[in-house]
Amino acid sequence: MTRSEELFNEAKRYLVGGVNSPVRAMKPYPFFTARGEGARLYDVDGNSYIDYCLAYGPLILGHAHPEVVRAVKRQLELGSAYGTPTELELEFAKRIVKAVPCAEMVRFVNTGTEATMAAIRLARGVTGRKKIVKFEGAFHGAHDYVLVKAGSGATTHGVPTSAGIPEETTRNTLLAPFNDEAAVERLFKEQGEEIAAVILEPVIGNAGCILPKDGYLRFLREVTSEAGAMLIFDEVITGFRLRLGGAQEYYGVTPDIATLGKIAGGGLPIGVVAASREVMENFSPVGKVYQAGTFNGNPLSMSAGLATLRVLERGDVYRRLEALGKRIRKGLEEVSQDAGIETRVYGVASMFQMYFTGEEVRDYASALKADAELFLRFQREMLLRGIFLPPSQYECNFLSCAHGEEEVDYTLEKAEEVLRALR
Ligand SMILES: *Cc1c(COP(=O)(O)O)cnc(C)c1O
Repeated sequence: MTRSEELFNEAKRYLVGGVNSPVRAMKPYPFFTARGEGARLYDVDGNSYIDYCLAYGPLILGHAHPEVVRAVKRQLELGSAYGTPTELELEFAKRIVKAVPCAEMVRFVNTGTEATMAAIRLARGVTGRKKIVKFEGAFHGAHDYVLVKAGSGATTHGVPTSAGIPEETTRNTLLAPFNDEAAVERLFKEQGEEIAAVILEPVIGNAGCILPKDGYLRFLREVTSEAGAMLIFDEVITGFRLRLGGAQEYYGVTPDIATLGKIAGGGLPIGVVAASREVMENFSPVGKVYQAGTFNGNPLSMSAGLATLRVLERGDVYRRLEALGKRIRKGLEEVSQDAGIETRVYGVASMFQMYFTGEEVRDYASALKADAELFLRFQREMLLRGIFLPPSQYECNFLSCAHGEEEVDYTLEKAEEVLRALR
């Protein structure tokens, strides 16, 4: 028995399903990590893996980047929480405001979940309306407003709409298929005066990787503006990932409110709500929308996020990541063709996913048609060859600055070997 299996068997007695977040569940058991370095994870049995999960998105610089490590160590010596403002949070806020088009002010919270919860409350507070529109298969964290037809682990583990959420709450969450203009127009026609916001992942990274079709984000910008509703880009994945300014910079569409997380914390917990001054000043202590947190703007996350941003601001990080993204997407298309297996590969910048299907994937319903079982067999075989892909067709793969052509080419070689064996 491996050490991971031993630990897993024991963990199941103390932690539900042996894990602390459902996405980490893996059959027959997940490997237990001892450490991460650059593009690799090392497990407790001495195996190493090229990591395309990257903690589900935060680690754009790879594991334990020296500049991030140095910044956090330095801060830790100075204390880890004060309950007072710091210069660090001001410095970090200024840089985010400079980078992110919709941001004139920010509020730091602790997780992406908190950020979307606060953003939705803010939109409701500003508009005085109750309803929100969310897209099927999108995931905005694990809170009541949005856990309806949610992607990520909720889909993988068969509970896209969670038990335990009052129907009074979900009644105010309206659903639409992504990339469908008519469905959104219908909702606005029928209930437009009650809709506070449309919230979306501009690229859905929680149902694999689903791209917005040409003009779709602009369409959403227009319908929401016309109806007096807010447009919320949940950029917890895409923020600092597609570009320094996120998907709003990449696609040139500016939302009213953006939520950030993952990369923003440089590997430590974080969430960010960003918007214009006019909107943001509805938050307390200036306005009437309450939001608070003991660890908001916590100095360790601030220092890790700031160190990460400093590296990202430098040079040609995004051009390199984009080129590497193209290489792996094109490579995966080629190797599946050569192996005679029907797949569709999607992605942008340093995001990608390969669906086991011959049909176009443009929304949740078409993503669900892909062969998730075959994907899992692929994922398992890749793991045995030292390549860690997130263990679900409904997650996205990521590249980091620590990945290079060598890792990508090795991955493609192994992918071809596995695909041939799966046929
Ligand atoms: C991960 C994620 C969240 C939730 O962030 P947590 O930090 O896990 O709470 C919200 N929205 C999107 C798009 C995410 O990918």
